[in-house]
Amino acid sequence: MIKYIFITGGVISSLGKGIAAASIGKLLEAKGLKVTIIKCDPYLNVDPGTMSPFQHGEVYVTDDGAETDLDLGHYERFTNAVLSRDNNITTGKIYYSVITKERRGDYLGKTVQIIPHITDEIKNSIKKASQGKKHDVVIVEIGGTVGDIEGLPFLEAIRQFKLELGYSNAINIHLTLVPFIKSAGEIKTKPTQHSVGTLREIGIMADIILCRTEKNIPKEAREKIGLFCNVNPEAVISAIDVESIYEVPIKYSQEGLDTLIFRKLKLKAGKSDLSQWTKAVLEPLKSPSKEVEIAVVGKYIALQDAYKSIYEALIHGAISNNVKLVIRKVDSELIEKNGAEKYFKNVKGILIPGGFGVRGIEGKISAAQFARENKIPYFGICLGMHTAVVEFSRNVCGLKNANSTEFSKGTKNPVISLLDEQKAVKEKGATMRLGAYDCTLKKGTKAYNAYKKINISERHRHRFEFNSKFHDIIEKNGIIFSGINPQSKLVEIVELKDHPWFLACQFHPEFKSKPDRVHPLFREFVKAAANR
Ligand code: GLN
Repeated sequence: MIKYIFITGGVISSLGKGIAAASIGKLLEAKGLKVTIIKCDPYLNVDPGTMSPFQHGEVYVTDDGAETDLDLGHYERFTNAVLSRDNNITTGKIYYSVITKERRGDYLGKTVQIIPHITDEIKNSIKKASQGKKHDVVIVEIGGTVGDIEGLPFLEAIRQFKLELGYSNAINIHLTLVPFIKSAGEIKTKPTQHSVGTLREIGIMADIILCRTEKNIPKEAREKIGLFCNVNPEAVISAIDVESIYEVPIKYSQEGLDTLIFRKLKLKAGKSDLSQWTKAVLEPLKSPSKEVEIAVVGKYIALQDAYKSIYEALIHGAISNNVKLVIRKVDSELIEKNGAEKYFKNVKGILIPGGFGVRGIEGKISAAQFARENKIPYFGICLGMHTAVVEFSRNVCGLKNANSTEFSKGTKNPVISLLDEQKAVKEKGATMRLGAYDCTLKKGTKAYNAYKKINISERHRHRFEFNSKFHDIIEKNGIIFSGINPQSKLVEIVELKDHPWFLACQFHPEFKSKPDRVHPLFREFVKAAANR
């Protein structure tokens, strides 16, 4: 029997439900269970692929090529769960499927309604993502905040689902905020009471209340929350602020959350083993040997979530090299205005992440030039590979006005151009070259030395690609094509011959890095930066 944990959030958004779900997954794995995690997003987009990072933050990509919510990134970083498109359920997807069935005639004679048709579709989607892979526990995070109109069908669906499963097979964990009011010098439980009350009004009883808080919640406050929220005080868990998100599973375990979940779900408790996580992740975070400052150049740097996986993978690189990472966020448009030099004083490495659109592109090209000329370690990812190739073509190969056709359609030297398969594509949603593709590495290159194997697989999300017509002239001038797709022959990695560490890849290695299993390219990039 698969057990289910439903996670909802109350009071305010951004409390870290994703980290909570991922941490609970980690705790269950530490006790020997197999888990998967599903994110339900109540918006009407079918997936976040068409949304701006300002709306949504990063778009995370799974192996099977789904464009998903960034919380799936947390789930994969914290656990061993292998996620797919089934792990991100949106209102858009649910309605799309129900309306398609209605047009096909599947509901002939019936009025199609939110209850039961939408709620059944939600339940079936959750079941679909849970089945066939021998999971012991399925964690389902409901996005948004309790009380949102658009979240109601999801809440109704999990209410029904819990009833069908039986109360020892499913529990509800509600994440709330317990604020500390400075002027009164005390913490306040009322918002939590209201939020749990709202949940109760729609028929959901919280089994465990997870309270985000700055200060430890005293015994009396726990008792009060328990009394008014209809749980034992021991089911009121404080989720106190921590410096690193990777401490969260340990804190939860110290609070007894894992034991409590096991008891409520009548699971057989193995001994918890978080020692590897503590040793590999937390200890190096606490005692780094030195600081390494790395610049990330983008146009969404004002937004914390836009480059989430990049920042996390850099932290993993720092952990694996036992250094403290300092990220200098550089706005590419400012480089266009003021030149590169001003922004890179004393940085040890420059990273250009993925991106779309012409705004800020010349700033990124200048950053690539600055890194190449000053022998600063450079890591280009997707668009960061395009900028590196454009810069090298213009300034080393003498290819005047070389560009990507994404930014200059009629350029005489289109060193980056639209993939052939993209030429007929009209629709925007889920039509890029997406997901895992193979890549073959050339021996003796920086790429090979990082991975230490020939055949790798990495995740993609792009429409433009290196133009093979320019292969010879660019190679002759000193770029090594160190990674190639064996089927399509597309260029996946380029690197500079004459540079301490200058590597750019077409894929997104950041999606496959974990704190205790750093991605080899992030490990080597941070190492090169630390050695500078
Ligand atoms: N805009 C570029 C393309 O579509 C790069 C995409 C990316 O960086 N993810 O190919």
